Amino acid sequence: MTIRVADEAGIAAAAAHLKRGEVVAFPTETVYGLGADATQDSAVDKVFAMKGRPNFNPLIVHVANPDWLAGFTQPDERVDVLTRAFWPGPLTLVLSQQPRSPISTQVSPNLDTIAVRQPDHPVAAALLDAVKRPIAAPSANLSGHVSPTTAGHVEADFGAALDITLDGGPCRAGLESTVLDLTADTARILRLGVISASEIESLIGSVEDHWEQSGATLSPGQLHKHYAPSLPIRLNSAAARDGEAFLTFGHAKGATFNLSPTANLTEAAASLYRALRQLDDPSQYTGLAVAPIPDEGIGRAINDRLRRAARGR
Ligand code: AMP
Ligand code: MG
Repeated sequence: MTIRVADEAGIAAAAAHLKRGEVVAFPTETVYGLGADATQDSAVDKVFAMKGRPNFNPLIVHVANPDWLAGFTQPDERVDVLTRAFWPGPLTLVLSQQPRSPISTQVSPNLDTIAVRQPDHPVAAALLDAVKRPIAAPSANLSGHVSPTTAGHVEADFGAALDITLDGGPCRAGLESTVLDLTADTARILRLGVISASEIESLIGSVEDHWEQSGATLSPGQLHKHYAPSLPIRLNSAAARDGEAFLTFGHAKGATFNLSPTANLTEAAASLYRALRQLDDPSQYTGLAVAPIPDEGIGRAINDRLRRAARGR
């Protein structure tokens, strides 16, 4: 395992590694990604194998700019509007894939769709420019672990199994992208994220908040356990019990880790995964109590991840 400074030499080395069909980890504004050249079957297979990720859980393909979409999808008016408004940024679009797409079928096995995003991070952008191919990348954690928001988190999960991790410092957003399905007439949110349904609705009209309505989802993999903590988690807790760590938000007494002392949801999202990695430690605590977090804006995405964690055990 080599954590490399993401300077010109580091990016060139990572790009060469990707072109050879190898896997590298790199920073995005959401979380660190475990990337492979999306056009090489064997490279994409390595990502699934390294993560221990079930193959029914498809990968997001990262592009350098919206123009790249024409190579493997049929972008429509809504795609134009949304990419102009939110790319580069934490919005993943699920689109129909062209029959003659060069993207490996391993990226979204058994589906005729593809999830795409342009990350808003200078290192990810430089890497895409250098490779000149779309990069398939899920979060750079072992399946069932917390998503990584620093190069150190990536190293903790993969150690020597990973040749290169480009270090871009802590991720700005710290939470995975919003996943929006555009394959039907009505757009549908498959995963809550940094960008809210109302922001999207203001641009393309009504959006089905599918996840919220049915409790289920059409996003394969979302049904799969997201993160399985070692400790039992109690949500919406006013205080911690003896032995528990206390994860808080805003003004709170007895915090073990405060996600945002000033009650700022964006700041809380950015520190959530660092907090979970730090507090989910059975050698120190018997459980994890979590204070209530407002269920609005990005707070809905935070609560979504916490509920999955509480269920995952
Ligand atoms: P990760 O990159 O680990 O955050 O996971 C990517 C998520 O994107 C998956 O869990 C899927 O839910 C979603 N996704 C990727 N590709 C597709 C697709 N073709 N259709 C629906 N959802 C997808
Ligand atoms: Mg993930």
